[in-house]
Amino acid sequence: MSNDWYSDFVNSSIGRSIAGTVGLPPVPRLRRYEPGQPLLSGPALLGTATADGRVAKVVRSLLTDLGVEVHDDPNSAVGGGSSTSKVAAGIVDATGLSGPGDLAEIQAFLTPVMRRIGPSGRVLVIGDVPAGATAPAVRAARRALEGLVRSAAKEARYGATVNLLHVADGAENDLESTLRFFLSSRSAFVHGQRLDVGTVPGFSGSSQGVDWDKPLAGRTAVVTGAARGIGATVAATLRRDGATVICIDVPASGDALARTANEVGGSALQLDITADHAPATLLEHAQRHGGLDVVVHNAGITRDKLLANQDRDRWNSVIDVNLTSQLKINDALLSSDVFHRGGRIVTVSSMAGIAGNRGQTAYGASKAGVIGMVDATAPLLVEKDATINAVAPGFIETAMTNAMPVGTREAGRRLSSMTQGGLPVDVAETIAWFAQGASYAVNGQVLRVDGQNYLGA
Ligand code: NAD
Repeated sequence: MSNDWYSDFVNSSIGRSIAGTVGLPPVPRLRRYEPGQPLLSGPALLGTATADGRVAKVVRSLLTDLGVEVHDDPNSAVGGGSSTSKVAAGIVDATGLSGPGDLAEIQAFLTPVMRRIGPSGRVLVIGDVPAGATAPAVRAARRALEGLVRSAAKEARYGATVNLLHVADGAENDLESTLRFFLSSRSAFVHGQRLDVGTVPGFSGSSQGVDWDKPLAGRTAVVTGAARGIGATVAATLRRDGATVICIDVPASGDALARTANEVGGSALQLDITADHAPATLLEHAQRHGGLDVVVHNAGITRDKLLANQDRDRWNSVIDVNLTSQLKINDALLSSDVFHRGGRIVTVSSMAGIAGNRGQTAYGASKAGVIGMVDATAPLLVEKDATINAVAPGFIETAMTNAMPVGTREAGRRLSSMTQGGLPVDVAETIAWFAQGASYAVNGQVLRVDGQNYLGA
């Protein structure tokens, strides 16, 4: 049993038949990652929109190396079945578009894909970066993909996801960790989203020789706010992927912090990240562990008040914890060799920072500020071969959301394309992927992990 009574009900045998009869919306059970799980649970369809496509070759070679059955014709019989049998993925190389007329090729491929995509299947559209085109017709066609994907996501069923990758010119061979994330069940709650790869110039790195079961092996990570909630799950996920984890939280959460650190075989550092000495203390502690490869800025607070009732102390506490502390720690990381070459900074924004939320002006400001921080910091990290990215969770099942009034909670869950809240592990999987050395071409990105929530933007 989960906290979500409605999902439990419509997924019970009696509930399923009642829901079917009266037309209640279903809540699909999402396939989530377990170590050793294959990338895809069945065959894939791989289409190309134009003869100039740059990425189909790379996608095909990854899938065939992993033993996935790949078909080019979306109406092919697959897996010993028929031409209507379910598929685990439909991927279309939509690079090289010359104008809106080319979009019809994508429609022709995706129409059968949408009929055939199986439970928790993956539909991935891969296009060029719109800003890279000066001709209006080319740019319009590139940008059209975003409207197509966001709309198709609202039509997908049974936990299938639909997402868009923009790939910068020359970055087509730097996609492996991103393809592995978006095609696998690690991205279970990332739906209707767009991610740009290779758009911050000057990146370098390699995915040669990566152990994809332990992609963080040999790396040391700091997670702030690790005592509980999403932070504790991030610590466990980074550990599962091979990292040594330093867990940070306020002294008042010392017992819970020690528990997380014990569970992940890591160390605990009791530290208020807003303290003046916090950046120096963090670096000193990390130095004793041989330096730092990954920093996850997860600690965050809410102090909700309508703006009409806001006061300066409450406002400042939210901005200090959620934003200013991160800026100070990043300044220290940038100027210290303790933060290793090839390092990764991952920060936690929020849908409130993108769409806004009633009663959350301070929180929304802090979480939007985090996005500005990511934008401006990404180019500064290139000379260290490092990256910074953000996750923006929507409604995630935690103690915080469980304490919401029932109406708000139900709206948060149901008003999304997945008709459910995400789990802390969905946020953690996204952070763990950003944290990989092999994600070197993903920089300056903000990825919503929200099942395509309809609230706000
Ligand atoms: P939580 O309240 O359960 O955990 C936050 C942790 O941060 C706590 O352990 C707390 O002690 C710690 N912390 C707070 N101030 C600190 C400080 N000054 N120094 C060190 N540690 C401090 O919250 P959560 O739901 O797990 O959220 C984690 C992050 O995800 C936050 O940044 C939050 O804003 C963000 N987020 C959560 C949701 C959601 O649905 N739960 C949605 C969007 C964004």
